[in-house]
Formats: sequence, C-alpha cells, structure tokens
Amino acid sequence: MVRVQQERWVGTVANGSGTPGSTADLRGASSASDTHGALLVEFGELVFHEEAQRQYLPAFAYEALQAVIRGEKELTPEIADVVAVGMKRWAQDRGATHFTHWFQPLSGSFAQKHDTFYWWRNPEGKLIETFSGRELIQQEPDASSFPSGGIRSTFEARGYTAWDPTSPVFILATGGTRTLCIPSVFISYTGEALDYKTPLLKSIDALEKRALPIVRLFYPEVKRVYPTLGWEQEFFLIDEELYLSRPDLVLAGRTLLGALPPKGQQLEDHYFAAIPDRVLAFLAEVERECARVGIPLRTRHNEVAPSQYECAPWFEHANISNDHNQLLMDLMDRVARRHGLRVVFHEKPFAGINGSGKHSNWSLMTDTGLNLFAPGESPRENLLFLVFFVNMLKAANDWEDLIRASIATEGNDLRLGGHEAPPAIISVYIGEEMEKVLQTLKEARALRASSREKLTLKIHAQIPRVFLDYTDRNRTSPLAFTGNKFELRGVGANMNCAQALTVLNTILAGQLEVFYEELQREMKKREMETAILRILSEYVSASERIIFNGDNYSREWVEEAARRGLSHFRTTPEALQVYRKKEVCALFERLGVLTERENHARYVVRMERYVRSVAIEVRTFIELCYQYVLPAGVRWLKELESSSAGMDRVAGRLSAILAELPGQLEALEEALRAGESQMEEDLEGSALRFAREIRPRMEAIRAKVDELEQLLPADLWRLPRIYELLHVQRRNPLRRECV
Ligand code: ADP
Ligand code: MG
Repeated sequence: MVRVQQERWVGTVANGSGTPGSTADLRGASSASDTHGALLVEFGELVFHEEAQRQYLPAFAYEALQAVIRGEKELTPEIADVVAVGMKRWAQDRGATHFTHWFQPLSGSFAQKHDTFYWWRNPEGKLIETFSGRELIQQEPDASSFPSGGIRSTFEARGYTAWDPTSPVFILATGGTRTLCIPSVFISYTGEALDYKTPLLKSIDALEKRALPIVRLFYPEVKRVYPTLGWEQEFFLIDEELYLSRPDLVLAGRTLLGALPPKGQQLEDHYFAAIPDRVLAFLAEVERECARVGIPLRTRHNEVAPSQYECAPWFEHANISNDHNQLLMDLMDRVARRHGLRVVFHEKPFAGINGSGKHSNWSLMTDTGLNLFAPGESPRENLLFLVFFVNMLKAANDWEDLIRASIATEGNDLRLGGHEAPPAIISVYIGEEMEKVLQTLKEARALRASSREKLTLKIHAQIPRVFLDYTDRNRTSPLAFTGNKFELRGVGANMNCAQALTVLNTILAGQLEVFYEELQREMKKREMETAILRILSEYVSASERIIFNGDNYSREWVEEAARRGLSHFRTTPEALQVYRKKEVCALFERLGVLTERENHARYVVRMERYVRSVAIEVRTFIELCYQYVLPAGVRWLKELESSSAGMDRVAGRLSAILAELPGQLEALEEALRAGESQMEEDLEGSALRFAREIRPRMEAIRAKVDELEQLLPADLWRLPRIYELLHVQRRNPLRRECV
C-alpha cells in the first residue's frame, strides 16, 4: 500500500511547481528543488511500512504479519512478540523513546498515553527494556474520563485499546521527542465499541462480505473489496496573537459576535488566488511532516472565504485515509503554532461567510484494481457498475435520514444550508447522462430474455466512458456522483469522517444483502443478466425521490423536497432521533456494526456533547458581553452625552441597545441554567431546548451587539474585529500585512 502511494507521490512531486523552502530546518535544504528532494527522500520515513518490516523482522514474522494485514490470519501472541522486538528496534533506530496506542475516542480528537520502552526494576536496580507482543497488541489506559454514553459505569471503568494492524504504525516526531504510535481501537471490558474506528472497521467488513459474492458473479478471481476515501480538508488560518485575543475562538472554536466587515467574500477574489507567503511556508512544512508519516498530500489552494484554505491527499483505503486525516489535523495544529498561526477547523467560525467542510470522496475497489463505482469498457463491466450504482441510490433513498444524522454536530448545524454549503436535506446528484441510463433501465421491467442483449448494449452505449468534468457540474449537491465515486459534501471540517463512512458502508452493505437474495430467487427463473436488469429497474423506480440534479441552494428545492417526503432536520438534536428508530438499530445489529446498546450509547454521547458545547458557547457569549461590550458601550454613551457636537442620533441608537441588553442577557442566562438542569433527567428535551430556544435567543442578542460595535470608536472596542481576523495576516502595530 505504502509503496504504491510512494510511487504516486513521486509522480506528483516531480511534476509539481516549485515550493519555497519552509521555515523549519530542512536539513540543509535551501532551495525549492531541495525541498522537493527532501519530500521524496523522506516520504514514509517515519512509517513502519512493508519495506521497514522486511528489514527489521525475520522472514517468517514478516510473512505472518502481511497475512494478518491482508485479513487471512489472526495475529498469534508468538508472532506479536517477534514483531514487537523488530518494531521497537526500528523505532529506536529513529530516536523513539516512548510508545503509545493511538486511538479515536468519542470525545472528538484522538487520544494517546505514552509509555517508555524502559522499565525500572527495583530489586536489582537495573534499567531493562520492555515492549512485548502483549503491549503491542493491547493497552489499558485508565479510561474512565472518556465519554461512553453509559456503557462503562464507574465500577467497570477500564477500557482497553487493541492494535489495528491494517493501519501502519508510525513515529510522531514533535516537540523534540519521538513516539512510536500504534493505531488502535478502543473498547470496553465487555467488548463494546467506545471509539470511531471499531464500527468503521466492522462496517468495512460488513460491506466486503456483501459485495464479494456479487462481484464474483462477474469476476470470480476477486478476493477483496474495500471502500476508499479521499477527503478534502478545509480550514481557516488566523494570526495567533489575534486568535488568542478572542476568547470565543479559543473557547468555542468560533466567533460568537462581531460585525462582518464591508468586504467579506463578495468579490470572490480569494478563491484559488495566490497563496500568501506566510501561509505557503506553513503549508510546505505541513506537507513535509505529512510526507514523513506517509500521508500523501497532493493539493493545496485558497478557498472562497478570506483566510480560508484547503488541502487534499490521494485517496487510500478508507480506514487508513481516515487515520491520516486525524493525524493531519494534529500535525496542522502543531505546525501552525510554530508559525505564529492557529488553524480553525470549526464548521462555521464566521457568520455570514462560507464555513468549512470536509468533502468525503468514497468509492469501492477490488484487489484486482476495479473501481466498482466507475463505468468500464465492456457491457459486462458496465452492468456490474450499474449494480453498485443503483444499489447505492436505493440505499441513499431508504436511509436518507440516517445519512443526515451521521453528519449532525453543533458546528455543522450552522454550516449546512448556509453559504455555499449543502442543505440539511439529503439528495443525490447523478447528472444527465446517468439520468438517461436509468430511464432506459426502467424499460427492463417488461423484459423478455430475447430482448435482453439489445437493452444491455443500449445501456452500455449510453454510459459515457469518461465523465469529463463531471465533478464540476453540480457543486450544490450534498451527495454527488462524480463519475467514479460519490462525494459526500455534508461532512464538517472538524468531524471524524468515520461516522459518516460507517453509515455509507452499512446502508450499502444492507442493501446489497437484500439485492443478492432477490437475485438468487430471480436466477432460478431466468438467466443472470435479465434477472439483474429487472431488479435494478425496480430499484430505480423506487429511488426516484432521492435523485435531484437541480440547485440545492434554492428555496424551491426545500419545498419540493418536502413534497417528496425527504426529511429536513435543521438541528442536531432533531437529526439524532433517527438513531433511535427501530429499523436503524436493527440494521446496525443485523450487519454486525453496532449492537443496540452501542448504538444507543453513541446517541447519548452525541446529545450530551451537543448540550455541553452549546452551553459553552452561550456562557462565553454572556461573558464577552459583560466584559467587553457593555463597558465599551457605556463609556462611549457617557462621552456622547456630555458632548455638544450634535451626536444625539448616535447616542439615541446606542442607548436604545444598551437599555435592553442587560435584561436580555439575564433572560438568556436564565434559559441556559434551565436547559442545563433539565439535562440530567431529560437529555433530549434539554438538547431540543438549546437548539430551538437558547441558540436562537443568543443569535438575536448578537445582532444587537454587532450593531453596537459599529457605533463605537475604534479605541474603545478591545476585541480584534472580524475584519482583522479575516484580512490581517500579522498583527504588528508597525507593519500590518494584509492577506
Ligand atoms: P477534483 O474534485 O478537484 O476535480 P478529483 O475528482 O480527481 O479532483 O478528486 C477529488 C478528491 O477525490 C481527491 O481528494 C481524491 O483523492 C478523491 N478521489 C479520487 N478518486 C477516488 C476514489 N476512487 N475513491 C475515493 N476518493 C477518490
Ligand atoms: Mg471534489
């Protein structure tokens, strides 16, 4: 896997344009070409990839580990011991002193607990080295503080982490230290999932199990099927000094007040514009750090909003790609600080301009190199493509509400349906060509065996072989078929993609299972191709409501979607109800992805997180009002009232706002307290109250505060203004640099 990426990476870098050297030490690299050279030499140098395994493990252990990675064998304790020895030697040769299981608890970002490779043995007073197979495979972090949604009561507080050998082990080199990181799942003592990775892995297995028998009807030689993921990470970059002067950015991850400057993104002059030097230096260093841990970053560019950017890698196996995304977010955060910058991953850090998403491109690959969502060269290939394409449409149609629920967070609520973001209504864009193909497919219902050949050929001729520019034909769709993959655009920048991917994998797996059963029945009556065409044609008719090729941003679509019976959950607490539906629990159980208890625990964790996060926002907002807004307003009003310069109108507007503000803040505080105290006995009621009453109330007060800000003299307003956050690259009183 890594080797393939490496070759691709070499190709990209060799063809790319010059990258200026980063500010970090480049080990002697001083020119642009040297930086490229460094990227090439260093790609994967901190990854225990196949080559490193071959070098550091005895042949039998290497072979055994590879078989485990391919899913053919279980890891035995004996092999684990041998692998641990080699892995440790590899890590120590690269300066690592500690090791950690690296896992993704439901609290959001990944977690780690470092142990040294050494152990102080008291009786002899000697320092001995540890790290056996047991420690490689399993760790027991004292995990009682991670959210478990009630799965782990305090008396059974221990959870444990277990190595996921399919994701490469790597070294995290930061802060002058080097730590061996072992990608792991995190489960309770009773074996229940407490993380994002476990259900993702189970959904990948579930999907493979249902897809394989179908693929083998066409290509008996196929042994493996796996989903791929290529994410596109959007983010804002803010000067650190300005960032730290905004308590709302620091505590809530977004600005809670502040008037939008006269120039936002109206001119669209930031998108794809020249990347500022300071940002380039940051990105170059991120790319280099990513290269060393084997993340194949490929693209970087300015996004639409001022100070907004995006980077994207080559796609990989979904599990590895998702680990890489989590790692990237961590590396970006660390590198930004070195450059006096802060990365903001929040989905909507600034009201009124674009938010940040993480478009997740998702497809299915076989070990023989077939992309199951890509049209092919022959009628046979195209029939297989149609099987997967139409089944995905049916799955999206039947589970649109679950897809919506999978991308629900307090941050994403503010983004979905906003500026250039997909709406909270799930539909699928398929494009005109595929629309025509599906029309033809519908004719298959009345099909007799004799006319089958003609129809297959007609469909084949209709399927365009190359979907030129398919991606750019509809940027407004939340789930777009882009020629050889589906692009889920609703995922938020700050989210772990695993949540949405688990749902996509699971609903498709469930649908394929039903399809295969139907096919077996039909094939008793007629031959395979006719049977497939008949079933697919029925699915097409049953899935029509989910297809929408028009403008998803328009008001008409909201009405049309309601007529079609598509769900439209505007807030997280409403969307999360879907997880409690019987059919949803049954689906996850049937496919072995989540038990009912695990599923319910996740619902609880996400609801709690919603309430707590919004409560932090509201509390921060209230503090900002008392500490900054009211004092500044009152001071200016006093000055205005003693001035004789005809300022009555300004004073009048200001005093009208100031007269109301304290009372409004008190009422908000009251609502906040009530909402929080409701949480214990009625989590759902509390969350709904935060979504429907408390947040809108805060937004209404904010509008007044922003009006007030615009009336104040510059020297009295002590918070950095939105204009500074968005347009000023470096806060230096002597020399301000604008983006
Ligand atoms: P663009 O959207 O800029 O036109 P592409 O469509 O080639 O570019 O790719 C966009 C993203 O889709 C990239 O992050 C890429 O890694 C990902 N991608 C491309 N092919 C696949 C695939 N088969 N599976 C998953 N992701 C893919
Ligand atoms: Mg794209």
